[in-house]
Amino acid sequence: MSPAIQTITLSLVLRLGAVNCYLVTANDGFILFDTGGSNKRRDLHETLTSAGCQPGNLRLIVLTHGDFDHSGNAAFLRGQFNTPIAMHESDAGMVERGDMSWNRQSSKLVLKVASPMFGFGKAERFTPDILLNEGDTLAAYGLDAKVIHLPGHSLGSIGILLAGGDLITGDLLENTKGPSFNSIMDDRVAATHSVAKLRSYEIGTVYPGHGAPFPMAAFYDSQHIAPNLYDDKQA
Ligand SMILES: [Zn+2]
Repeated sequence: MSPAIQTITLSLVLRLGAVNCYLVTANDGFILFDTGGSNKRRDLHETLTSAGCQPGNLRLIVLTHGDFDHSGNAAFLRGQFNTPIAMHESDAGMVERGDMSWNRQSSKLVLKVASPMFGFGKAERFTPDILLNEGDTLAAYGLDAKVIHLPGHSLGSIGILLAGGDLITGDLLENTKGPSFNSIMDDRVAATHSVAKLRSYEIGTVYPGHGAPFPMAAFYDSQHIAPNLYDDKQA
């Protein structure tokens, strides 16, 4: 059965658009996927509280990657709700050092300059409590969901495939002008391989880091990719 997903959209600094967090209902509580930027901390906290989150039932914070528009409130929420933070180890250095260019091949200078603009200061830095890897499940936190490593936008980007086929993709894919790859890619070859990996799963709705949810089939259509690898497998 598909779990309930609440989309929380928070606007970014400098009119850079908006970012999504997803609050998913788990057994005996919730799991939050991504935390937005620190500029909208109060809004996020209010939304979580209204949804019923409190210390003890916000069981896990999962970051799809280390960028500060996704990780900007993780340390704060860990303090408020006593919730562990999980992410892929390949992006951990970004949030530990406060540097989005850490571990990236391209745009190093731009990202180094942009890093402080996202309001990610010393108080926002943290060391993740749990390191996630390909194939890990979230069963221990009351959610039937699987981690898929999806490098491309960043080396440590992950997607989370929920039971029922919904996929939280972070910034591998976006929907700001229609379903597409995210416009910022550190490694385009890796991103292509990540999408090839996704084709072996039956995916329904994509929940991207930026833009409204969309059917995975609409992304495949936009890229002229045949979506039916999983059909071949099942045949
Ligand atoms: Zn990002």
